[in-house]
Amino acid sequence: MNFIFIKYSYALLFSVLVTLPAWAGASEDASHQEAVKWSYSGATGPSHWGDLSPEYNTCKQGKNQSPVDISTSIPGKLDGIKMDYSLLVAENIINNGHTIQVNIRSGGTIKVDDKQFSLKQFHFHTPGENRVNGKSYPLEVHFVHVSDDNELAVVALLYQPGMTNRTLEPLLKKIPMNAGESKRLGAKDVELFERSKTIKNYARYNGSLTTPPCTEGVRWIVMRAMPSISRQQLDVFQRALKHPNNRPVQPLNARIIIR
Ligand SMILES: [Zn+2]
Repeated sequence: MNFIFIKYSYALLFSVLVTLPAWAGASEDASHQEAVKWSYSGATGPSHWGDLSPEYNTCKQGKNQSPVDISTSIPGKLDGIKMDYSLLVAENIINNGHTIQVNIRSGGTIKVDDKQFSLKQFHFHTPGENRVNGKSYPLEVHFVHVSDDNELAVVALLYQPGMTNRTLEPLLKKIPMNAGESKRLGAKDVELFERSKTIKNYARYNGSLTTPPCTEGVRWIVMRAMPSISRQQLDVFQRALKHPNNRPVQPLNARIIIR
C-alpha cells in the first residue's frame, strides 16, 4: 500500500482491537509477571513460544497472528477513528526487559466501531514488527487500549530513518537503561502525537498480541503516517533494550488487510 510519509507532527496511530478478557495479564502489559519465561532469541525465542507453556499455545496454533507484512491490502470503506488524548495523564515509564513501556493513568480514548477504548499503555519495538511491502522499519510503537468489556484496541506507529524526532526527545531522556527500572513521567514528557484527531489513513487487520500468550481477536490499525527517527535516537532504545524485540511476521492465512 502507498504509505504516505508525513512529518512526525502528523498523528500516528496504529490501532489494534483485541478481544482479550485477560488483557491486563497479557505480556503487552509490562506490569504482568510472566509465569513462564520467554525471550526474543534462542531456546525461549519466538519460534519456541508456543511450546514453552500450554498458555502460549496460540502462539503456534493461532491462525490470526501478529505482526504481519502489509503487502496485499484491498481498498475498503474504513471509518475515521476518533482519537482524544487531550486529558492524557502518564503514570511512569518502565524497562521490563522485553520492552520500554509508558503506563497511562487516564485520559486517552479512541472510538472504533462505535465503541470506546481507553489507552492503558504504549510501548516500543525495535526493529518494528509489522512490515509494509516487505520492508522493515527501525521502530514501532503500540498504543494499547481496552474497552469496558475487555476488548483491546492497539494503535501502532512505524518510524522511518531520518531526522531527529523532536516529539520523542522528552521521553528519550526518561528511558530507564536497565531492566526492572522505572521512572515517573511529567505532563510534558508524552507528546508523541496530536492530542485530538480523527485517524483516516490506516490499514486494518485482525491479529493478536505479538508477545506470549499471543491472544487473538485484536483488530490492528496501522497508521500510514510515518514519523522520522534519527540514528542517535534509535541508539537510546537499543542500548536500553540490549536486544531486538520484534517478533517475526506471521502468515496472513485467510485474513484480508483493509486500507
Ligand atoms: Zn507491542
